[in-house]
Amino acid sequence: MSIRKRVLPSCLIGLLATSIVHTWCVSALPAQETITNVHHTLSVEMIPAAHELVARDQIELEVNSQVTLATFTLAHTLHVESVVMRTHSVSGGQGGRDEVVPFTIVRPPETSAQRIVVSLPKDHGRKIALVLSYRGQINDPPREPRHLRFVTPSETAGHIGVEGVYLSGESQWYPDVIGSFSTYRVTAQIPQGWTVVASGSKEGETTSAGKTSSTWVVQDKSEAFTIVANKFVTTSREWKSPTGQRVELQTHFLPDNAGLVDEYLNATAQYLDAYVRILGDYPFDKFAVVENFFASGLGLPSFTLLGSGSIKRHYIQPYALGHEIVHSWIGNSVFNRDDHGNWVEGMTTYLANYYWHELVQDTAQAFEQRRMMLDGYNLYVRPETDYAVSQFLRKHDEKDNAIGYQKSAFVFHLLRQEIGDELFWRGLKIFVSSYRNRPADWQSIEEVFSRESSQDLRWFFEQWVGQPGAPRVSLRDVQARRVKAEGGKEAWRLTVQVEQAEKPFRMTIPIKVVMKESTDIKSIMLSLSQRSVAEFVLPDQPLRVELDPHAMVFRRLTRRQLPPMLNGYVTDPHKTVVRAFVDPASPLQQIVDRITDHELTESRRTTVVSLKENALPHDGSILVLAGADQRQAVQSVVQESCGDRITLGDQGFQVDGQAYDGPKMAVLFSCHRADVPGSLITVLYGVTSGAVEKVSRYLFYYGWHSYVIFQDGFVTKREVWPGLPDVKEVRIDATP
Ligand SMILES: [Zn+2]
Repeated sequence: MSIRKRVLPSCLIGLLATSIVHTWCVSALPAQETITNVHHTLSVEMIPAAHELVARDQIELEVNSQVTLATFTLAHTLHVESVVMRTHSVSGGQGGRDEVVPFTIVRPPETSAQRIVVSLPKDHGRKIALVLSYRGQINDPPREPRHLRFVTPSETAGHIGVEGVYLSGESQWYPDVIGSFSTYRVTAQIPQGWTVVASGSKEGETTSAGKTSSTWVVQDKSEAFTIVANKFVTTSREWKSPTGQRVELQTHFLPDNAGLVDEYLNATAQYLDAYVRILGDYPFDKFAVVENFFASGLGLPSFTLLGSGSIKRHYIQPYALGHEIVHSWIGNSVFNRDDHGNWVEGMTTYLANYYWHELVQDTAQAFEQRRMMLDGYNLYVRPETDYAVSQFLRKHDEKDNAIGYQKSAFVFHLLRQEIGDELFWRGLKIFVSSYRNRPADWQSIEEVFSRESSQDLRWFFEQWVGQPGAPRVSLRDVQARRVKAEGGKEAWRLTVQVEQAEKPFRMTIPIKVVMKESTDIKSIMLSLSQRSVAEFVLPDQPLRVELDPHAMVFRRLTRRQLPPMLNGYVTDPHKTVVRAFVDPASPLQQIVDRITDHELTESRRTTVVSLKENALPHDGSILVLAGADQRQAVQSVVQESCGDRITLGDQGFQVDGQAYDGPKMAVLFSCHRADVPGSLITVLYGVTSGAVEKVSRYLFYYGWHSYVIFQDGFVTKREVWPGLPDVKEVRIDATP
C-alpha cells in the first residue's frame, strides 16, 4: 500500500469568531488556489531516548497579496516557539531582515493536528518566507494489528523512540499547507550509530560530537516527506536500465536480517528491469528496502518500509516487494487526488500482484490471481453492502480490500480486453508520464484511455467504476444443428443463449466450446438486455459449452461456483465450530478460544458444539477441529460432503489419492456441504496434537485454498478444488 496524508476538514466555520471566518476559509481553500510553490528548508534533530524532536522549518511560498492569513497543520504534541517572517532574502542567505509575526493556534476537535494560523503583514509581497521553530514529542508506539485474519500495518501516527524512528506525512511532524505539493531540503540529525533514510536524494553526511547529520533533497513536488531511522546495516549496488538510467539500490536492515540483502537487491533489480519497460523511467535516483521496527508494507517515494517479520519471511513476491516497487510510479510519482476515489491500489495490484505472472509467462499463477480477485469479491462483498470502486478511499477490512484492490485491479484487466493490449500499454505509459508529480483521479484515467483508444469509454467507467455490483451471467440454452458449409462440407451451427439476471451489463464474455475432435474459445458480446444470443459455425459437432472457463471477466458467482475454502466458512453468516478432540490441552482449543474472544465485541456469534453421535448441525458452514482421538467420527461426517477425496488415518491421511504419513503431518481442507447449498465443511486435522500447534496460531491465513498440507507447521502443498463450473451440454436440434 502507499501512505497518504491524513486529510483534515477544509473549512471549520463553527470554530471561529465570525469576524475571521471569511479569511480563514479563504486560507483553508485548497492550497493551489491561494498558496503555491511551497518549499521547505527544514532542519530537525531527533532524540530517540526522549521521543523528542527539535526543528526549524523555513517555508518559502507564493501567496496572493490580498491573503492575510497563512495556515499550517502540525501535530498537536509539537510546540511552536516562534514564527519569523524573513523578507528580502527568500533564498535563505545572509542579509535578510527577520520580523517576528503573530500567530494563533487552533485545535479542531477530533483531529491529531493543530492549525498554526500566521498573520501576514499587510504589505507582504507575493513570495514570502516564514521560519517556524518548534519542538516536542512524537511518541505513538505502534500497536499490534488487531484483526484476527487480516494483515494491516500496525497503527501509529509516528514514533521517535529507542526502537526506531518513523515520521511520515501522517505524523504531521513539520508545518504543512493542506493539499500542497512541496519540494524539500531536509537536514536530519540523530545520535551517532543511527542511520537516517528519507525521501529524495542524500546530499551528504557528517558526524561530529556524537551526532550524525545528513541532508536530503526532494526536487520534484511531492505530497509528504518521510524519515525513518534505526541502527541499520546498509548495503548498496548500482542498477542500470536498458535506457541507461542509473539507480542506486540499497538495503537498510537490522543486523539479524543482514544475511538477506542479496536476495532483496536481486529481486529489486528484477522488478525494475520489468517495470521500466511498462511504466517508463524509474522516477527516483535510489530505491531502498528498509526494515521497519513494526509490521508494515509501505511504498514511499524512493523506498519501501517492511516489517522485520516480513523481511525474515522473504517478502520478495510480486504482491509484496513487487507491489511496493510499482508504487514508485503509481502513487508516489502520479498521486491519488485527495478526497477522490483511490485508483492507486487497484492499478498497482493489477500491475504487480497480477500482471507479473503474465510477464514471466506463468499462466497457472495468472489464472490463480484472477480467481482470487473474483473469489475475494464474491465472498466478502454482499450485494446489499457493495459500493462503487470510485467510492473506495482506503481499506479497513476484507470488504474494502475486495472492492478497492481486487475489483479495482480487475477493472484494468477488463479495460485491457476492451481496448486491446497495444492501446492499453501505450495508454498506461502516457498516463504515467503525463501525470508525473501531479494528482490524478479516475476521470484522468478515463480521459487518457479514451483519447489513446479513440473510443468513448464513458459507459465502461460508469459501469465498472461509477456503479457498484457485478453482472450475474449464466448459460441458458445451448443448441446446435447440422448445416452445409461452403463447398458442400458438413458443419454445425451452434446457438448460445446467455442470460443476465438483474441489471444487465455491457460486456464480452468468453465461452469454451468442447467439440468431438477439438476445443475452441469463442466470445459473446452481451448487450444491455436480459438475454443475448450468439451463433457460431463450427467444423465439428459441439458437445459442451462452458462459460468463462479462465476467469477472464468480473462477475457474481454463487457460493457453490466458488472453490471450497476456509474463507467460505469465514464469510458464511451462519457458522458453527465443532470440537472434535478430547484433550483439553490440545492446541486446537486455542483456536476455539481465539474465535470466541474475537467475537466478544461482535453481535454475530459462532456456535461452538462438540461432535456428538456423529451428527453435524443442519445448516450453515462448519469448522471441525479434529484430533486424532476422534478420527473415526470425523471421517464419517466428512464422507458425505468430501466423498473419496479425503481419508483420515491414525498414522497419516490421504488427499486426492496421495498419502501423507507421519506424526508431524496436518491437513486443512474444505468441501461444499452435500445437502446445504452455499455452505461448507472445513476440517483441520493433525495426526498428533504437535502437528497442529503452529497451524493453530495462523489458521486464518490459509483461507484461499481447498486443502493445505502441513509438515511440522510448514506448508508443503496447497491446492484448489474448482467450484461448480457453468457448463451446459449441447442440445442437438434434429428438426429438418
Ligand atoms: Zn499498495
